Amino acid sequence: KHPPIPPRSAAVAASPMQRARRRTGLVAQHPALTLDTGMTDFARRVLVEDVFVALGANLGDAAQTLRQAVAAVGRLPHTRVRKASSLYRTAPVDSSGPDYLNAVLQIETALPAPVLLQALQEIETAAGRERPYRNAPRTLDLDILLYGSGQIDSPHLQVPHPRMAQRAFVLEPLAEIAPERVSPAQREAVADQRIERLVGVLLS
Ligand code: ATP
Ligand code: CA
Ligand code: CA
Repeated sequence: KHPPIPPRSAAVAASPMQRARRRTGLVAQHPALTLDTGMTDFARRVLVEDVFVALGANLGDAAQTLRQAVAAVGRLPHTRVRKASSLYRTAPVDSSGPDYLNAVLQIETALPAPVLLQALQEIETAAGRERPYRNAPRTLDLDILLYGSGQIDSPHLQVPHPRMAQRAFVLEPLAEIAPERVSPAQREAVADQRIERLVGVLLS
Protein backbone atom coordinates (compact mmCIF):
# COMPACT_ATOMS: atom_id res chain seq x y z
CA LYS A 1 0.00 0.00 0.00
CA HIS A 2 2.85 2.38 0.89
CA PRO A 3 5.92 3.00 -1.26
CA PRO A 4 9.20 1.57 0.03
CA ILE A 5 10.77 3.56 2.84
CA PRO A 6 13.59 5.71 1.52
CA PRO A 7 16.72 6.03 3.61
CA ARG A 8 16.72 8.92 6.11
CA SER A 9 19.93 10.29 4.74
CA ALA A 10 21.90 9.56 1.64
CA ALA A 11 23.97 6.43 2.05
CA VAL A 12 27.57 7.32 2.80
CA ALA A 13 30.45 5.66 1.04
CA ALA A 14 31.29 2.32 2.63
CA SER A 15 34.04 2.48 5.22
CA PRO A 16 36.92 -0.03 5.07
CA MET A 17 35.24 -1.90 7.93
CA GLN A 18 31.92 -2.06 6.07
CA ARG A 19 33.67 -3.28 2.91
CA ALA A 20 35.40 -5.93 4.99
CA ARG A 21 32.09 -7.01 6.51
CA ARG A 22 30.53 -7.32 3.07
CA ARG A 23 33.49 -9.34 1.80
CA THR A 24 33.31 -11.66 4.77
CA GLY A 25 29.56 -12.07 4.57
CA LEU A 26 29.15 -10.66 8.09
CA VAL A 27 26.46 -8.31 6.85
CA ALA A 28 24.29 -11.14 5.64
CA GLN A 29 24.59 -12.90 8.98
CA HIS A 30 24.06 -9.75 11.05
CA PRO A 31 21.65 -7.33 9.37
CA ALA A 32 22.05 -4.98 12.35
CA LEU A 33 25.51 -4.14 11.07
CA THR A 34 24.13 -2.45 7.94
CA LEU A 35 23.61 0.91 9.53
CA ASP A 36 24.47 3.19 6.58
CA THR A 37 20.89 4.41 6.14
CA GLY A 38 20.02 4.88 9.79
CA MET A 39 17.43 2.15 9.63
CA THR A 40 18.41 -1.51 9.85
CA ASP A 41 17.00 -4.19 7.61
CA PHE A 42 15.43 -5.66 10.72
CA ALA A 43 13.74 -2.36 11.53
CA ARG A 44 12.39 -2.10 7.99
CA ARG A 45 10.84 -5.55 8.25
CA VAL A 46 9.01 -4.94 11.54
CA LEU A 47 7.93 -1.35 10.94
CA VAL A 48 4.39 -0.66 12.13
CA GLU A 49 2.96 2.07 9.97
CA ASP A 50 -0.27 3.09 11.61
CA VAL A 51 0.58 4.06 15.15
CA PHE A 52 -1.34 7.03 16.54
CA VAL A 53 -0.14 9.17 19.42
CA ALA A 54 -2.24 11.80 21.21
CA LEU A 55 -0.58 14.97 22.47
CA GLY A 56 -1.98 17.31 25.10
CA ALA A 57 -0.75 20.24 27.17
CA ASN A 58 -2.35 22.94 29.31
CA LEU A 59 0.53 24.46 31.27
CA GLY A 60 3.28 26.76 30.03
CA ASP A 61 3.67 27.54 26.32
CA ALA A 62 1.56 24.59 25.22
CA ALA A 63 1.92 25.17 21.46
CA GLN A 64 5.69 25.36 21.72
CA THR A 65 5.80 22.26 23.94
CA LEU A 66 3.71 20.29 21.45
CA ARG A 67 5.94 21.38 18.55
CA GLN A 68 9.01 20.27 20.47
CA ALA A 69 7.28 16.98 21.28
CA VAL A 70 6.60 16.31 17.60
CA ALA A 71 10.26 16.96 16.83
CA ALA A 72 11.35 14.70 19.69
CA VAL A 73 9.07 11.87 18.52
CA GLY A 74 10.55 12.25 15.04
CA ARG A 75 14.04 11.81 16.49
CA LEU A 76 13.23 8.49 18.19
CA PRO A 77 15.16 5.59 16.70
CA HIS A 78 13.46 3.76 13.84
CA THR A 79 10.54 6.16 14.01
CA ARG A 80 9.12 8.69 11.61
CA VAL A 81 6.21 11.11 11.81
CA ARG A 82 3.86 10.48 8.89
CA LYS A 83 1.03 12.92 9.65
CA ALA A 84 0.26 15.61 12.18
CA SER A 85 -3.24 16.95 12.81
CA SER A 86 -4.01 20.59 13.34
CA LEU A 87 -3.76 21.99 16.84
CA TYR A 88 -7.05 22.05 18.76
CA ARG A 89 -8.04 24.16 21.73
CA THR A 90 -10.23 22.13 24.08
CA ALA A 91 -11.97 22.43 27.41
CA PRO A 92 -10.46 20.28 30.17
CA VAL A 93 -12.28 16.89 30.34
CA ASP A 94 -12.01 15.11 33.71
CA SER A 95 -9.24 17.63 34.38
CA SER A 96 -8.83 21.23 35.48
CA GLY A 97 -6.88 24.41 34.77
CA PRO A 98 -6.61 26.36 31.52
CA ASP A 99 -7.85 25.11 28.15
CA TYR A 100 -5.77 22.36 26.60
CA LEU A 101 -4.05 22.25 23.28
CA ASN A 102 -4.36 18.81 21.68
CA ALA A 103 -3.25 17.10 18.51
CA VAL A 104 -2.76 13.59 17.13
CA LEU A 105 0.22 12.20 15.22
CA GLN A 106 0.42 9.22 12.92
CA ILE A 107 3.87 7.70 13.13
CA GLU A 108 5.63 4.68 11.74
CA THR A 109 7.95 2.93 14.11
CA ALA A 110 9.87 -0.25 14.70
CA LEU A 111 9.81 0.29 18.46
CA PRO A 112 7.64 -2.26 20.26
CA ALA A 113 4.69 -0.59 22.02
CA PRO A 114 6.15 -0.79 25.57
CA VAL A 115 9.43 0.71 24.35
CA LEU A 116 7.54 3.45 22.55
CA LEU A 117 5.59 4.18 25.74
CA GLN A 118 8.81 4.50 27.73
CA ALA A 119 10.30 6.82 25.10
CA LEU A 120 7.16 8.99 25.14
CA GLN A 121 7.32 9.18 28.94
CA GLU A 122 10.93 10.35 28.71
CA ILE A 123 9.83 13.12 26.35
CA GLU A 124 7.09 14.07 28.85
CA THR A 125 9.61 14.19 31.67
CA ALA A 126 12.00 16.33 29.62
CA ALA A 127 9.10 18.76 29.11
CA GLY A 128 8.72 19.08 32.88
CA ARG A 129 5.74 16.72 33.31
CA GLU A 130 4.79 16.14 36.92
CA ARG A 131 2.02 13.94 38.28
CA PRO A 132 0.89 15.53 41.57
CA TYR A 133 -2.54 13.84 41.32
CA ARG A 134 -4.68 12.02 38.74
CA ASN A 135 -5.79 14.18 35.78
CA ALA A 136 -3.75 17.14 37.03
CA PRO A 137 -2.94 19.97 34.60
CA ARG A 138 0.20 19.06 32.67
CA THR A 139 2.97 20.53 30.55
CA LEU A 140 2.81 17.51 28.23
CA ASP A 141 0.86 14.26 27.90
CA LEU A 142 1.66 11.70 25.22
CA ASP A 143 -0.65 8.69 24.93
CA ILE A 144 -0.54 5.77 22.53
CA LEU A 145 -4.00 5.61 20.97
CA LEU A 146 -3.56 2.82 18.44
CA TYR A 147 -0.62 0.58 17.62
CA GLY A 148 -1.47 -0.93 14.26
CA SER A 149 -4.13 -3.54 14.89
CA GLY A 150 -2.47 -4.36 18.22
CA GLN A 151 -4.53 -5.12 21.30
CA ILE A 152 -2.58 -4.75 24.54
CA ASP A 153 -3.91 -5.14 28.05
CA SER A 154 -1.03 -5.07 30.49
CA PRO A 155 -0.85 -3.22 33.83
CA HIS A 156 1.18 -0.37 32.31
CA LEU A 157 -0.21 -0.25 28.80
CA GLN A 158 -3.63 -0.64 27.27
CA VAL A 159 -4.07 -0.24 23.50
CA PRO A 160 -6.35 0.90 21.95
CA HIS A 161 -6.41 3.63 24.58
CA PRO A 162 -9.41 2.66 26.72
CA ARG A 163 -10.83 6.19 27.08
CA MET A 164 -10.27 7.54 23.58
CA ALA A 165 -13.89 7.06 22.46
CA GLN A 166 -15.10 9.39 25.23
CA ARG A 167 -12.90 12.28 24.17
CA ALA A 168 -13.56 14.82 21.45
CA PHE A 169 -9.99 16.10 21.92
CA VAL A 170 -8.80 12.71 20.65
CA LEU A 171 -11.50 11.82 18.12
CA GLU A 172 -11.55 15.14 16.23
CA PRO A 173 -7.81 15.36 15.48
CA LEU A 174 -7.74 11.62 14.78
CA ALA A 175 -10.64 11.98 12.33
CA GLU A 176 -8.77 14.82 10.62
CA ILE A 177 -5.75 12.66 9.73
CA ALA A 178 -7.40 9.20 9.64
CA PRO A 179 -11.11 9.60 8.88
CA GLU A 180 -11.56 5.84 8.44
CA ARG A 181 -10.64 5.35 12.11
CA VAL A 182 -13.54 7.38 13.55
CA SER A 183 -17.20 6.80 12.77
CA PRO A 184 -19.79 9.61 12.56
CA ALA A 185 -21.58 7.98 15.51
CA GLN A 186 -18.43 8.21 17.62
CA ARG A 187 -18.02 11.90 16.81
CA GLU A 188 -21.69 12.51 17.49
CA ALA A 189 -21.33 10.93 20.94
CA VAL A 190 -18.81 13.58 22.03
CA ALA A 191 -20.35 16.51 20.16
CA ASP A 192 -21.19 18.31 23.43
CA GLN A 193 -17.49 18.76 24.29
CA ARG A 194 -16.00 22.14 23.46
CA ILE A 195 -13.27 21.93 20.84
CA GLU A 196 -11.94 24.43 18.34
CA ARG A 197 -9.54 23.72 15.49
CA LEU A 198 -6.86 26.41 15.40
CA VAL A 199 -6.18 27.70 11.93
CA GLY A 200 -2.88 29.36 11.26
CA VAL A 201 -1.13 27.86 14.32
CA LEU A 202 1.18 25.19 13.06
CA LEU A 203 2.20 22.04 14.85
CA SER A 204 5.21 21.20 12.74
P1 ATP B 1 -5.55 8.90 30.66
O1 ATP B 1 -4.84 7.58 30.51
O2 ATP B 1 -6.96 8.78 31.15
O3 ATP B 1 -5.47 9.75 29.42
P2 ATP B 1 -3.37 10.38 31.85
O4 ATP B 1 -2.86 10.44 30.45
O5 ATP B 1 -3.50 11.67 32.58
O6 ATP B 1 -4.81 9.66 31.85
P3 ATP B 1 -0.94 9.49 32.96
O7 ATP B 1 -0.68 9.96 34.35
O8 ATP B 1 -0.28 10.28 31.85
O9 ATP B 1 -2.49 9.39 32.71
O10 ATP B 1 -0.47 7.99 32.75
C1 ATP B 1 -0.75 7.02 33.71
C2 ATP B 1 -0.29 5.67 33.18
O11 ATP B 1 -1.10 5.24 32.11
C3 ATP B 1 1.08 5.64 32.56
O12 ATP B 1 2.08 5.51 33.54
C4 ATP B 1 1.02 4.41 31.65
O13 ATP B 1 1.67 3.29 32.24
C5 ATP B 1 -0.45 4.11 31.57
N1 ATP B 1 -0.96 3.82 30.23
C6 ATP B 1 -1.75 2.74 29.95
N2 ATP B 1 -2.08 2.71 28.65
C7 ATP B 1 -1.47 3.78 28.07
C8 ATP B 1 -1.43 4.26 26.72
N3 ATP B 1 -2.11 3.64 25.74
N4 ATP B 1 -0.70 5.38 26.48
C9 ATP B 1 -0.04 6.01 27.49
N5 ATP B 1 -0.03 5.60 28.78
C10 ATP B 1 -0.75 4.48 29.08
CA1 CA C 1 -4.00 11.17 28.57
CA1 CA D 1 -0.81 9.84 29.63
